Amino acid sequence: MRLVVLGAGESGVGTAILGQQKGYEVFVSDFGKIKDSYKQVLTDNAIEWEEEQHTEAKILNATVVMKSPGIPEKVAIVKKLVAQGIPVISEIEFAAPFTKATTIGITGSNGKTTTTMLAYHLLQSAGLNVGLAGNIGKSFAWQVAEANYDSYVLELSSFQLDGIIDYKPHIAIITNISPDHLDRYEYKYENYIDSKFRITKNQTEEDYLIYDADDPAITTWLQNNKTRAKLIPFSLTKTFEEGAYIKDNIMKVAINQDDFTIETETIALEGKHNMKNAMAATSVAKLMQIRKATIRESLSNFQGVEHRLENVLKIQNVQYINDSKATNVNATFFALDSMNAPTVWIVGGVDKGNDYNELMSLVREKVKAIVCLGIDNKKIIDAFGTVVDVMIEANTMQDAVKLAQRLTEKGDAVLLSPACASFDLFENYEDRGNQFKQAVQNL
Ligand code: ADP
Repeated sequence: MRLVVLGAGESGVGTAILGQQKGYEVFVSDFGKIKDSYKQVLTDNAIEWEEEQHTEAKILNATVVMKSPGIPEKVAIVKKLVAQGIPVISEIEFAAPFTKATTIGITGSNGKTTTTMLAYHLLQSAGLNVGLAGNIGKSFAWQVAEANYDSYVLELSSFQLDGIIDYKPHIAIITNISPDHLDRYEYKYENYIDSKFRITKNQTEEDYLIYDADDPAITTWLQNNKTRAKLIPFSLTKTFEEGAYIKDNIMKVAINQDDFTIETETIALEGKHNMKNAMAATSVAKLMQIRKATIRESLSNFQGVEHRLENVLKIQNVQYINDSKATNVNATFFALDSMNAPTVWIVGGVDKGNDYNELMSLVREKVKAIVCLGIDNKKIIDAFGTVVDVMIEANTMQDAVKLAQRLTEKGDAVLLSPACASFDLFENYEDRGNQFKQAVQNL
């Protein structure tokens, strides 16, 4: 049994370790450079690896190939493997058969990390022996090799889901779907939607699918396709016999004829989108039979995740908010929607085919000034130039924050919510968010 791992990042190295432990002959190949720490781990475990090349003779003789999520299906080596009928799978598919743990799989265009972290927090606070993996922290495969959890909360990207054959989560969540990563899906939104719904394709009657019933992409798919899982909808506008909803500022999660209720103002997360994330995560907690008192306490002490509508500092009564993780328009929509002070908005970066019209009415209502922070700001200037009174461009985060401060008065807010990817001026969204926080500290 020969396992070839393409891509030596967190999930690739984790898969290699697990494969080795389970008796596979393992070969790891990365077309780029491998991080030194990963090289060391591979070498320490006597796993053969190569970098900056794909040696076909060592790859095309695989029994099974694990492809890291960052590698597109269209690269030559993957096409050759597929043409030869060699299964090309994701880390989750490879690792899942080696654990008996219950898995909770969370996907969606936005809100995955927040919902995953909150669900994990709820289960962990209840004393469950639960792991956290997927796109977060230490890879799932690595933990299956080294830890012994009874359950896992997994954040699953569409790329992870594209590589599943038999894997099914016991509980699946689709937080929402809006266009993203279309370059990997032949620029067809339907393909991307289908990819997200792969999370439920192997589920059976014992399993659950929790989903946003306000999301037209999700409800349309469910009308036209079948899943065997039990459906648990959540909504801000509808009510259900079984499902989660908010009415008169009370969040209600009705599952297994046992209702959990909580006043929304006691939930620590803020914003409508976070109420949705809270409904999804609380549905998981109910299905896992967590005590109501524990759920209530955990919802009220969960402070959110860094770079997602993170309150940084209040300076001269101006609140600075870091939402650097908003790399698409939909995420920024909810950020602006949750603002309740006149806002100086720092926006821009690498545009992923954004349609700024969706933000127009919120910008009119909430934004007093815009600071553009990107190499090419033309689309933003065209969209909002006539809508706000003040619009300026900055070249560095330091300048952007200083300019934003000058535009504020007591009671305002400064929001970094770029609606764009970060790699024109920053290493990644964390770097962008950290630079913002540093610049705010410097004020
Ligand atoms: P993901 O892991 O799917 O990227 P995150 O939880 O990291 O999701 O949040 C990404 C961005 O989307 C943040 O800017 C956050 O404020 C925003 N966001 C979080 N939850 C939602 C939601 N349910 N709907 C829309 N936007 C959201």
